[in-house]
Amino acid sequence: MPSESKGIKDDLRRLKRAVLRIVSDVWFLNRISQFCFAIGLSGVGGIGVIFAIPYLYENYSDNVIFYVRLLGCFLAMEMIVNWLCIRYVDTSYNPFRDGIMPDGVLMGQNISRLDKADENQNNGIINNHGRKDATAIDMGNNGSLMYVASEMPTSAEEPPKRTAYPYFSWTPCLRCNRPRPPRCHHCPMCNTCVLKRDHHCFVSGACIGYRNMRHFTVFLFWGAVATTFATLHALPYYYYDVLPYTSYFDFIFPIAVTRAMFGYIDMKHAIFIVLGWILLAFLMWAISFLQVVAELINTGKTTFENGYKMELTDTRGIFGKLRSVFGNYWILNFIIPLHYVFEPVDDPVKWPYIKA
Ligand SMILES: [Zn+2]
Ligand SMILES: [Zn+2]
Repeated sequence: MPSESKGIKDDLRRLKRAVLRIVSDVWFLNRISQFCFAIGLSGVGGIGVIFAIPYLYENYSDNVIFYVRLLGCFLAMEMIVNWLCIRYVDTSYNPFRDGIMPDGVLMGQNISRLDKADENQNNGIINNHGRKDATAIDMGNNGSLMYVASEMPTSAEEPPKRTAYPYFSWTPCLRCNRPRPPRCHHCPMCNTCVLKRDHHCFVSGACIGYRNMRHFTVFLFWGAVATTFATLHALPYYYYDVLPYTSYFDFIFPIAVTRAMFGYIDMKHAIFIVLGWILLAFLMWAISFLQVVAELINTGKTTFENGYKMELTDTRGIFGKLRSVFGNYWILNFIIPLHYVFEPVDDPVKWPYIKA
């Protein structure tokens, strides 16, 4: 019996090492993906504006080429500026700036129900020792419950003790060693608690949250426009300059690459076919993400809350919800980033308009 339990312990230790390896790979991915994206974006934008546009518009006047290039530069600039804003606008929870847990509010008290004081005397805090899933969600009588690491383990092998809190409450963060407001979650990659955390974005290497959701939305919007613009220019190019030298089967890109390697078609054309599929992937990606983000703004939820189908209502109308993401004059953000001038109109700590 003891040897068997020792075997299981060894297995667990191996499993832990494997998981740590994957996590450190994610770190690596997070580091390199943002540089690849920044270089790729400026490279593709630069090549498009410098070479592709004059080539595709050679039968038009210089004026037309100038304005198409201007549009190309504008799209690339909007994407780069908003990418930098996603990356560098600080959306982490700062108690000195955003406020601390108010007096009279208890850890694990659903703050959206504070006005109904009687119901909330014992707002069910359930101890749940050894629960492993950090973000497990239950739907109980008190709404959604979230299992949060609440006590340090005594030894390295043990998991931290976890406690079930109502989702819409102040909870402890063991990593930051302080309480954090509702909807604020700790990101292991950014190593900080992020206000209204939506997700960690590998394209920019930063978390999307309360303060930079606007830049993420604007980035996706111009990304969708730029990829549509590029696709509309690529289609005639494929029709007139690639298709006559290849066959319809070559548009299945592994066939094109294989045939190019054996010298049946030009390698240049095979590369253009691969790039065409990448462009198509980015087009679909930008449009589908933009649709998801529009839905999130419309419901006032985060990806996390949406994923767990939490019953959480933003009581404002659509313009209130837009102001809570973009600040006043929301449409201006699509031209210039205005996060210093018009902060989001909301309270990222007290959430007065949310009923959960
Ligand atoms: Zn934290
Ligand atoms: Zn993050």
